[in-house]
Amino acid sequence: MTGLTPGRRWQPPYFPFKREPFGRRMLARIERWVKGPLFGCRMCGNCLLQETAFICPMACPKGLRNGPCGGSTSASCYLDETYPCIWYLIFERAHKMGREEMLLEVLPPLDWDLVGTETWGQVYKQIRKVGAGTFIGSMTSGDKIRREMVWDAVFRPIRQPDWWAGDSQYHPPSYDEPASDFERRLKEGEFVVFCNRCKQEKEEGHHIECADVRLE
Ligand code: SF4
Repeated sequence: MTGLTPGRRWQPPYFPFKREPFGRRMLARIERWVKGPLFGCRMCGNCLLQETAFICPMACPKGLRNGPCGGSTSASCYLDETYPCIWYLIFERAHKMGREEMLLEVLPPLDWDLVGTETWGQVYKQIRKVGAGTFIGSMTSGDKIRREMVWDAVFRPIRQPDWWAGDSQYHPPSYDEPASDFERRLKEGEFVVFCNRCKQEKEEGHHIECADVRLE
């Protein structure tokens, strides 16, 4: 178990695919030395700690970055029953910290261009953009709203790169008409049973009348 994470497994960190300049390599090494023992950091290069209640989601054996898989339970991980699901632990801590709303944000998959590289350089650049004085001033102020706004201005662009730009909002479809008969029936409140049998039969050259099974 590492310093600040309840995960017991500390899996080996990634290393960059490309040769990085000396300064970035040194920074990455220091980041690995600090965040490895503290958070079990695997150097994914796209840090989500501030989103996931300061528990590294990369402790998940499947590397899931948006919540648990279908097989895990509150008692254990799907792949290793001796190990708790890291996403349940993230939710519990986020709930205690009053930050569970943040978990709704849809996060990007790993950017393999960044994997193995440091994140601190990006944080430093963002703090410079926002203004070091503004950042320090807001973090030490008692104004929670201002603190959260400035924090978000620094960390959102890091966890939500331009090519992804995910958020926690509901995005309704831009069309009104149902895209299929299946969707139309669901919208009309029918209970529809969907099967794939007639497609398979047609592919095998058999003629079959679809029974169109429905439970009324
Ligand atoms: S999210 Fe990525 S960079 Fe952040 S602690 Fe985990 S492995 Fe390290």
